[in-house]
Amino acid sequence: MEKILIVGCKRTMDSVCIACSRCMIAFNRREGEFARYKGTDAQLIGILGCGDCPGAAIVPRLAQIKLWNAPMGERPTMVHVAACLVDHCPHRETLLAKIKAKAGIPVVEGTHPYKPENIFAG
Ligand code: SF4
Repeated sequence: MEKILIVGCKRTMDSVCIACSRCMIAFNRREGEFARYKGTDAQLIGILGCGDCPGAAIVPRLAQIKLWNAPMGERPTMVHVAACLVDHCPHRETLLAKIKAKAGIPVVEGTHPYKPENIFAG
């Protein structure tokens, strides 16, 4: 069973993308980059903020996830880097390189597909 850890943009998670619900809905519906888990019992085990600009804290925060979940015998088997970070972060390449170098598990770029095309039409 895959155990999914989402890594997102701290600033977006705090102020813009309310409750991270688009990522969770996409996971529950197996849409967007979560379509690969359709028909499986994959679980979402965390949504981790990057730690703020310029992303210097991401590696220790990944290590904290391991420590924090160790008492329950849980750890992620897949990382998904959220749409907020992949699409908008000016430090994206650095963050992706660090996550891919240190996670030790597969890293997927992307999560939900629900980016609005416009604000007022429709
Ligand atoms: S480093 Fe990137 S992902 Fe993290 S808070 Fe800054 S803009 Fe967002």
